[in-house]
Amino acid sequence: MDVLPSATRWVVVGAGFAGASTAWALARAGLGPGLILEREPTFGAHASGRNAALAKVTESDRVVRTLAVRSLRYLKRLDGGTGELLRPTGGLTLASGATYHEFERIRGALAAEGLDAAVLTAGAARRRHPLVAGLDFGAALWCADEGVVDIHALLTHYLQEARAGGFRVQTDCEVQELRVEGGRVTGVTTARGDVRADVVIDAAGAWAGRLGRARPLPLQPFRRHLFVSAPPAHAVAGLPFTWMEDAGFYFRPEGDGLLLSPCDETASRPCAPSTDPAAAELLAEKLAAHAPALADLAIRRGWACLRTFTPDRHPVIGPDSERPGLFHVSGLGGFGMMTSAAVGELAATRLAGRTPDWMDLGKVDPVRLAP
Ligand SMILES: Cc1cc2nc3c(=O)[nH]c(=O)nc-3n(C[C@H](O)[C@H](O)[C@H](O)COP(=O)(O)OP(=O)(O)OC[C@H]3O[C@@H](n4cnc5c(N)ncnc54)[C@H](O)[C@@H]3O)c2cc1C
Repeated sequence: MDVLPSATRWVVVGAGFAGASTAWALARAGLGPGLILEREPTFGAHASGRNAALAKVTESDRVVRTLAVRSLRYLKRLDGGTGELLRPTGGLTLASGATYHEFERIRGALAAEGLDAAVLTAGAARRRHPLVAGLDFGAALWCADEGVVDIHALLTHYLQEARAGGFRVQTDCEVQELRVEGGRVTGVTTARGDVRADVVIDAAGAWAGRLGRARPLPLQPFRRHLFVSAPPAHAVAGLPFTWMEDAGFYFRPEGDGLLLSPCDETASRPCAPSTDPAAAELLAEKLAAHAPALADLAIRRGWACLRTFTPDRHPVIGPDSERPGLFHVSGLGGFGMMTSAAVGELAATRLAGRTPDWMDLGKVDPVRLAP
């Protein structure tokens, strides 16, 4: 059994996108050393290794959009135009005609950031993307800068860079509780021994917000399913990821088939959720009603995992309001991969005691969640 160091600067709980990107950003800022402790035998075992991999910036919510746009810039630099890390599929968000003005607002915000977005009428979208011709929608928001990420490569990148900056990653190591002395968090207790730390960073995904707190943070995990289909009648090459906003489903190419989600949202306790046949039925119903061309798709496999939200659906990034020495990076909902670079950067900036000029901290600080 590997022996843990008795003391370090930062202990990060969880090796998903929250923990890995925070450690990466701390390492980049020269703020190591630290220790990332992951309960599972591998990193990315939960939502971070099992999500839809969409890098989507056409978001209505300003906080999520700001984080996503900032992260997309980093992803593009990292990809270097090869398309290996960030497959430039483009993204197409489809909704009823009533959404046209909201789409215009998002397009304007993205244009101000130098991103390539356009609002299209349904007719123009159908001509431009013949594969969505059979879908039921009234307006479309196209963003050429959106794409599909190699999530395992990205998570590995964060962890490698963190290691290079003095972080150690220890899997198979659950943090059982926090050590608290004089009201201050001073480290963690694990089955492999105790570790003292200047700061403990709770990046435990669906399990976050419980360690060291008499009252857990109000984080709610919701189960969502993903399915992979057999090849549809039309070839999927060149298909953008396509999000049906009102109907609530999305799909993107996956090999010669599609990866699809019925955007189901069932409250769950923190766990590795099992699949529910009702989700496949929901997907079939939505396809039959809004995408008849895809209604007969054979589903090859499916899985479920958890998206964990705060009540306002913004992330939690900042020091605990009750426990000095404890810092939170959680509540990354359905956007934790595509915002990860900016989430890590924001966390590291705050951990370094600085105030970023690009985010309203009141929107993400844990103090807003106090009862
Ligand atoms: C179906 C679905 C589709 C999604 N699609 C997208 C998408 O297209 N784009 C996007 O950006 N996001 C997407 N997401 C969201 C994204 O996957 C999450 O926001 C992100 O992975 C959350 O990362 P995390 O590090 O907070 O949590 P996790 O990935 O769950 O990582 C937390 C880690 O902490 C560990 N842990 C917990 N407790 C302890 C402990 N006590 N000791 C040690 N380790 C512990 C866990 O084992 C886990 O590995 C999707 C999510 C779902 C469910």
